[in-house]
Amino acid sequence: MKKSEALQILEHKIAECTRCQELAEYRQSYNWKTVPGIGNPNARVMVIGEAPGQNEAEQGEPFVGKAGKLLTKILEAAGLPREAVFITNILKCRPPGNRDPLKEEADNCRKFLDLQVTCIDPAWILCFGRVASIYLLGCPPETSMGAMRGEHFYDDKKVICTYHLLRNPAAKKDVWEDLQPVIRALQSTKPVV
Ligand code: URA
Repeated sequence: MKKSEALQILEHKIAECTRCQELAEYRQSYNWKTVPGIGNPNARVMVIGEAPGQNEAEQGEPFVGKAGKLLTKILEAAGLPREAVFITNILKCRPPGNRDPLKEEADNCRKFLDLQVTCIDPAWILCFGRVASIYLLGCPPETSMGAMRGEHFYDDKKVICTYHLLRNPAAKKDVWEDLQPVIRALQSTKPVV
């Protein structure tokens, strides 16, 4: 089966999911969409954020609106056009009032994320924000972004954890610094698209 087909099947499963009762009811009551993720099925770089906000839930696409503009800008500066990467979130549904995802919700959604990682098989994962980093790496909930910042592994994939651009706009310089290993690695291999 082609990667794009496998991702499409997963999208349907995500759209039907009601495992997190509160999130599913919230979503249905506003007629919001699930936000499975979007991008290149053959991406060498996968971007993982925290959870969809209202713009994302209305459009069914991650990182649109202000957050999307910031992300697109920094990815492009890093030589990664949006169409070269696959972008998703820890949660595929919007939490009420943009509260942090709960551990139970992240656990419920995990199989979708893991299937996406397995299917796309990226060399690099860029994880934006403290909450996304904690859930991806399984760190204790009180772990600071400063402690997680930098390079890790998730199975055989290299992971870079860095600040959430929207929550922490002042950290743009730090984010840029954190992205240097992936920028260097991609420069020494073939073009990303
Ligand atoms: N939009 C997303 O899709 N995820 C985030 O983490 C922030 C904004």
